[in-house]
Amino acid sequence: MRRATDASCLSRPALYDPGMADISAEQVRAEVAEWVAGAWDPSITVAEWWVRLAASGYAAPMLPESVGGRGYPRDLATTVSNVLEEHGLVGPPSGLGLMLAAPTLAVHGSPEQQNEFIPPILDGRSAWCQLFSEPGAGSDLAGLATKAELDGDEYVITGQKVWTSGGQHADWGMLIARTNVDAPKHQGISYFAFRMDQPGVDVRPLREMTGRAMFNEVFIDEARVPAANLIGGLNNGWAVANTTLMVERASLGSGGGGGGTLGIAVPGPIAGHLNRPVGDFVQLRAGAATGAVGGGTLKQLSELARTVGCSGDPTVRQGLAELHTLAEVGRWNLMRARSGQRATSVEGNLAKLLGTHSLRRTREIGNHIIGAQGMLWGTDTLSNGAVQELTVFSPGPSIYGGTDQIQRNIVSERGLGLPKEPGNFRTTPYRDLPKNG
Ligand SMILES: Cc1cc2nc3c(=O)[nH]c(=O)nc-3n(C[C@H](O)[C@H](O)[C@H](O)COP(=O)(O)OP(=O)(O)OC[C@H]3O[C@@H](n4cnc5c(N)ncnc54)[C@H](O)[C@@H]3O)c2cc1C
Repeated sequence: MRRATDASCLSRPALYDPGMADISAEQVRAEVAEWVAGAWDPSITVAEWWVRLAASGYAAPMLPESVGGRGYPRDLATTVSNVLEEHGLVGPPSGLGLMLAAPTLAVHGSPEQQNEFIPPILDGRSAWCQLFSEPGAGSDLAGLATKAELDGDEYVITGQKVWTSGGQHADWGMLIARTNVDAPKHQGISYFAFRMDQPGVDVRPLREMTGRAMFNEVFIDEARVPAANLIGGLNNGWAVANTTLMVERASLGSGGGGGGTLGIAVPGPIAGHLNRPVGDFVQLRAGAATGAVGGGTLKQLSELARTVGCSGDPTVRQGLAELHTLAEVGRWNLMRARSGQRATSVEGNLAKLLGTHSLRRTREIGNHIIGAQGMLWGTDTLSNGAVQELTVFSPGPSIYGGTDQIQRNIVSERGLGLPKEPGNFRTTPYRDLPKNG
């Protein structure tokens, strides 16, 4: 199942440095605030700001220091992004390069691949998308049909991907494709760093109910990828993809990325943001709904309630207290992930479930605050349109990164030890599996 992972071939990402476990959130908070005071300058370009951020290690604090991070556990990395958010500045390059590709490469990439791909992700010079889902392979991701065939020192890729977020801005894709049809489905997949701007790649936008086209379908017809861009070894792609998926769940659950790109500076040359003043994006962010629920969201809703004059309403107060409680539970869940024996191995899945629940509650409480204005659209409405934007965006996170149902399957199988779903699909060669006509 997509995202219902095969624990036997799972490679667990061990990104953070255990030596960092003793650093306190207060210490990190003070260090980041001091750094921001000296580094933030709204008049420099987005590219210049991101170079500063990358050099400080705060662009991706969870990555090991050897590849440009700080080796922080996830809860401290969340502290870093909270401090950056509280200062109202532009955060690290948004999108799936920083969130997924860099951590995956840090675990599975060769030193050469890490040197080539990670620095431009950290300072926003390159943008990545995730070429995983296909029309016939979503939850059942291991059933994917896109094929990669070796031709000299290149693989030739043919197939179709769908729901590719940010594909229109990406110059690289995390591509998984079938390299062995005789092996069981989980064992014949390989993972590639795939150039998007090449002949044979056709990116077509798909419009969502937000009115925008955040994601795309991607048709691939005999495109090419050098064998040197195979990540983690031939036919080992399921293990590599599971690292990406585990990072995705934990990251989405802790409020990282995943939202729309409205008002956010987008990395890579295609979006055209790199040479604009970084201060421009602070203005845009003010009214943007990003899909991430953190301390900043609670603060915004509290201010909104005061503006509307309903901050004394007991149901509003109760709702805001509930959001605060959910955020605290989320924080403790992340802390448990680094607590040795108490860790359950499914904290990432729990974080994602908690995140999607919090997002739905944020939508409901936000709409309770703005009342009938929730039916209006645009920045000249209460909340600058942010609650309305969040409302139409809110079903997405329960689907991407593995649906809520799939997260619960994983928690039950891997966390609680309940039986796996029946069937011999884990041992049958891919070519003999029943397929959709
Ligand atoms: C906003 C958005 C952005 C996305 N971005 C990307 C992206 O950038 N890259 C990418 O590769 N994909 C992306 N996706 C795709 C996403 O990962 C898939 O939509 C998701 O994995 C579900 O797959 P599916 O849509 O094929 O649904 P299906 O797998 O067909 O599922 C349909 C329903 O059946 C349920 N179901 C399926 N199997 C089981 C089971 N075993 N047990 C219980 N219930 C089950 C599901 O929970 C769901 O409710 C995105 C999706 C969205 C909505």
